[in-house]
Amino acid sequence: FDISALDLPDILGTINEEVRARFGEGKVADYIDALANVPLDRFGMALVTRDGTVHEVGDSREPFSIQSISKVHTLTMALDAIGDALWDRVDREPSGDPFNSLIQLEYEKGIPRNPFMNAGALVVADVILSNYANPEQALLEFMRARSGSHDVGADEVVAKSERESGFRNIATANFIRSYGNIENDVDAVLDFYFLQCSLSMNCVDLARSVQYLSRGGYCDVSRTRVVSWELATRINSLMMTAGTYDAAGDFAFYVGLPAKSGVGGGIVAVAPHVMSLCVWYPGLDDKGNSMLGRYALHRFAQMTGLSVF
Ligand code: GLU
Repeated sequence: FDISALDLPDILGTINEEVRARFGEGKVADYIDALANVPLDRFGMALVTRDGTVHEVGDSREPFSIQSISKVHTLTMALDAIGDALWDRVDREPSGDPFNSLIQLEYEKGIPRNPFMNAGALVVADVILSNYANPEQALLEFMRARSGSHDVGADEVVAKSERESGFRNIATANFIRSYGNIENDVDAVLDFYFLQCSLSMNCVDLARSVQYLSRGGYCDVSRTRVVSWELATRINSLMMTAGTYDAAGDFAFYVGLPAKSGVGGGIVAVAPHVMSLCVWYPGLDDKGNSMLGRYALHRFAQMTGLSVF
């Protein structure tokens, strides 16, 4: 794919104007105040090409709560630690159910459907706890190295309210534990999970943080190989089939790029061999994906012709 024929600043400018004309659409996540209070007049978009060039528009330097986007990074860390053994404990199928659903766990005896549902991410967190000497520090270092931003950190207020309102995640972790698919102390697993959800980053940091997935596993920001080419393609495939809650089919249809969303309104996307992207708009649709973030990615795919299909 030759991006030199594209006028990327012009494309981003057009999308920015279109999105700003629709500010107010969607609904912010309201299970915690820190997310409920984010105004619906913020939109940022950033992309990083293979050679590291950044194009950005709007509020692309304003930090927001990355929430479930972190599941891409923790999955990478867990696969790096135990490889294919992860798949004995987490499946690789789209769920078709909401991200925080418990229903399939009973039929499937504590094996979550995929690593991007909360249930799967809790098992991934458990793997990280078993395999990294200082898991929280390791996650922060991973994020800082991938994004090249040394001040990436957790928002303490968000982490605390995730914990205080986290009844469903607490139930999920205990339910999985009852099947023996969590090895560590359940509270320690939950603390790690709430920490990863509460990381605060901006669009540029996030687009850079997944650049390795657009470069066959090589991170140009830290100049290190993060995962093999094969693992990078596999992580991308999981983002395509399960990265956007129970709207993954719709994303494949309209956007056609592997993507992972979070309830803070961010979405990262990967165009393999070409670029990585991040969009942010806090208003969500009924599936929990950023309403105008999704629109922006749809328009971007239309205007550039980028698609894995
Ligand atoms: N902290 C949220 C939860 O675990 C994250 C949800 C998300 O971004 O998908 O419910």
